[in-house]
Amino acid sequence: MSDSTKTKYGVIIIGAGPAGYTAGIYSARARHDTLIISGILPGGQLVNTTDVENYPGFENGIMGPDLMMVWRKQTERMGATIVDDEVVKVDFKNKPFKVSTASTEYQADAVIIGTGANPRKLGLEGEQSFAGKGVSYCATCDGPFFRNLELVVAGGGDSAMEESTFLTKFATKVHIVHRRKELRASKVMQERAFNNPKIQFHWNSEIEEINGNEKVQHVILKDIQSNEKTKLEVGGVFVAIGHEPNTKLFQDQMELDEQGYIVLKNHTETSVPGVFAAGDVHDHRYRQAVTAAGYGCMAAIDVDKYLTENK
Ligand code: NAP
Repeated sequence: MSDSTKTKYGVIIIGAGPAGYTAGIYSARARHDTLIISGILPGGQLVNTTDVENYPGFENGIMGPDLMMVWRKQTERMGATIVDDEVVKVDFKNKPFKVSTASTEYQADAVIIGTGANPRKLGLEGEQSFAGKGVSYCATCDGPFFRNLELVVAGGGDSAMEESTFLTKFATKVHIVHRRKELRASKVMQERAFNNPKIQFHWNSEIEEINGNEKVQHVILKDIQSNEKTKLEVGGVFVAIGHEPNTKLFQDQMELDEQGYIVLKNHTETSVPGVFAAGDVHDHRYRQAVTAAGYGCMAAIDVDKYLTENK
């Protein structure tokens, strides 16, 4: 049982996805008094996922929510306390650090931020109703579920090019829908997509509707200049229009890059000594549960070293 009146901890971890839980396991096992404040979606992005086939250790795969449930239990069994609440304010300017929810101000000697990032949404009705039923935000995660189908990818950046190229391993054809005539992607990624015979581009276009029955069956494209509409029969929609790191809370507290990701130095250290970050909140390259977990482990080991050296 957690002590609900206790507010001072050795380590506070903000976020309860793969990074946060793994940091919690390592921190608690290193005998640090550890609190995880989970945020509004305990379990993170995997809670909105169905089958996870690429997390090591599960021969037959596992459902995302089930994975996060056992991960949470393991974290608690190791001795970390988990509070399901949202952090609304932090103060990293003075020590001990302060991390506040609407009702409680907590204090800690070290903090690990594992608040993740969210994929940008197109904002379509069908996008929500077909989430997990043909609409995906991660080709690496879900591509193998879409064998021998025609697919559509929204976006014109490196992610859209990379994901489309990856998806041609499984799909019969991949349609890239981009709202302009020029791609934002780097030249090398553009060329790879242009040279792939399975990829067709739809310029100055947007996906206007996503339709189907049990699963996605077709999308309606709109040419933004002519307003002409086209129906594309596809079995899946991949949205690759960028991510938003969850760093609003930290804007005036530490160094962020121009896209809002936390800038790290020396592995998991942020620009504030004693505050560390792990997972998608700083990593816009890999964005996988297993890499976030790896960063969570690294951050907890870095915290242990920091607390030992700064007793
Ligand atoms: P990004 O560079 O921000 O590109 C987002 C794309 O989505 C842009 O083409 C944008 O169109 C489009 N878009 C944004 N909002 C939209 C909306 N509401 N409706 C339709 N289209 C929309 O994001 P990213 O491709 O995820 O890349 C993020 C960062 O990671 C970049 O720095 C990228 O270089 C890097 N990255 C690198 C690699 C690699 O090197 N292997 C792979 C992936 C990502 P506009 O162009 O019109 O704005």
